[in-house]
Amino acid sequence: MATPFVVIGGDAAGLSAASKCKRESPDREVVVFERGQWVSYAHCGEPYFVKGEVDKLENLLSLTPADVAERDIDLRRGHEVVAVDPDTDTVTVAGPDEEFEQPYGDLLVATGARAVTGPIEGSGLDGSFPLHGLDDAAAMRAFLLDPSEDALADVGGEEYVDRERVERFGAMDPPETAAIVGGGYVGVEMAEALSAHGLDVHVFQRSDHLLVPFGEAVGEVVADEFRERGVTLHLNEEVARLAGEGRVERLECGDGTALDTDLAVVGVGVTPNTDLLDGTGIECGERGAVTVDEHGRTSAEGVYAAGDCAEDDHTVTGESVWVPLGLTANRAGRAVGSTVAGDPTPVGSIAGTAVVKAFEEECGRVGLLEDGARAAGFDPVSETLTAGSRSGYYPGAAETTVTLVADRASERLLGGAIVGTDRAAVRIDTVATALEADMTVGELERADLAYAPPFSPVWDPILVAAKVLNGKLKN
Ligand SMILES: Cc1cc2nc3c(=O)[nH]c(=O)nc-3n(C[C@H](O)[C@H](O)[C@H](O)COP(=O)(O)OP(=O)(O)OC[C@H]3O[C@@H](n4cnc5c(N)ncnc54)[C@H](O)[C@@H]3O)c2cc1C
Repeated sequence: MATPFVVIGGDAAGLSAASKCKRESPDREVVVFERGQWVSYAHCGEPYFVKGEVDKLENLLSLTPADVAERDIDLRRGHEVVAVDPDTDTVTVAGPDEEFEQPYGDLLVATGARAVTGPIEGSGLDGSFPLHGLDDAAAMRAFLLDPSEDALADVGGEEYVDRERVERFGAMDPPETAAIVGGGYVGVEMAEALSAHGLDVHVFQRSDHLLVPFGEAVGEVVADEFRERGVTLHLNEEVARLAGEGRVERLECGDGTALDTDLAVVGVGVTPNTDLLDGTGIECGERGAVTVDEHGRTSAEGVYAAGDCAEDDHTVTGESVWVPLGLTANRAGRAVGSTVAGDPTPVGSIAGTAVVKAFEEECGRVGLLEDGARAAGFDPVSETLTAGSRSGYYPGAAETTVTLVADRASERLLGGAIVGTDRAAVRIDTVATALEADMTVGELERADLAYAPPFSPVWDPILVAAKVLNGKLKN
């Protein structure tokens, strides 16, 4: 019998790989080590759980441990892989009772990423949350409850949740003010979530606009939406520290600006969990994510990497990049599962397609916007315009702002961004598809997109932007 397919990490990439391998090769032994108690969970739903739109933690699970066992996958929760040895094809595992060696035939590193707190002092104080994991989300929601309520019953997930943490935060007086450090997608989603609880919400962002990867046009619309909703924006503010006696009481910026606050969300970025590969010789890129080939293979024989801990080839540039997102983690894991089972399957490229909701505004981005395109060596031409989302006479039409970017010489489409309240986010998928197909702006302009008054004007906002950008390229 072949030595097992060993997977490190029991979430999107890891369990997609384990499930696919088991489906295609039922006789193969598949062992998954997960250091936490949660498996197959949706980080992406955490802000909506804190907001209260998702009722219980267990609603954020795709598969329970019992479902995984039914697939005949040997899932070991509470088991942390602490070392990988590609010379002997073994991993060292710290289990609840003992440390042991596990041989592998194939190994998938699917360890994801962790939140960083940057150089912000005091981010370990009680009341400061990174929001990376269901236990952070549970503790934050417990904190928002009145102490007379039963926090454990409210959050659910009792089989797996960190009960002590939930009870501790549940017993505290609920916060009245929230400081969100970082105006990226976690910060933006949390601003909406915490406003829904009636908190006085402040967002601190070190650059001059929110949602930097979505471009300035999107950032400005979201900033207006935030102000309208009562969220206070502190742009161009670098947070230096969180201070307080045992728990967060104050936020301080480098320029002396300060805010009294009793809750802080630090959403300043993530870094790949690849420390366990230090010294193995497995190649990593400059951000620390594992470099892989088109099938997710690392530089070590029989070792694969997928998801937030791995790089992917960029759809537009073909360069290896690190863009940690959900679909690509699931897709790469599934592809590795097939490959390991004997059906070599490409992990696919990544265009950085991302969508986020900011109260009623829906934002999307894909590919390279102007700065990214210039940095990649293109001579970018871009167009930003606002068009209607439906026929003007049809109820519900809303302004939709679209940016498209193209390369001057080849007229190839390089990327785009969109914002609006009426199904704007899903429209970015048209641009993502065009990038995948390597289309020029002219080809996109001639795409036969659907039209009927309740859904779109005759010229969809993406087509309007393509038409105007094409005109610009021709002049
Ligand atoms: C708040 C939030 C919102 C998000 N929203 C979106 C969204 O809307 N859209 C989107 O595309 N993406 C979103 N993401 C990103 C998305 O969740 C990730 O891209 C996805 O979860 C990556 O899956 P993964 O399996 O690679 O890593 P993870 O989900 O991080 O799983 C890795 C697992 O490995 C385990 N592990 C790590 N090291 C070890 C070890 N040494 N031994 C054993 N186990 C280990 C970890 O405990 C973890 O369970 C969001 C993320 C967060 C935090």
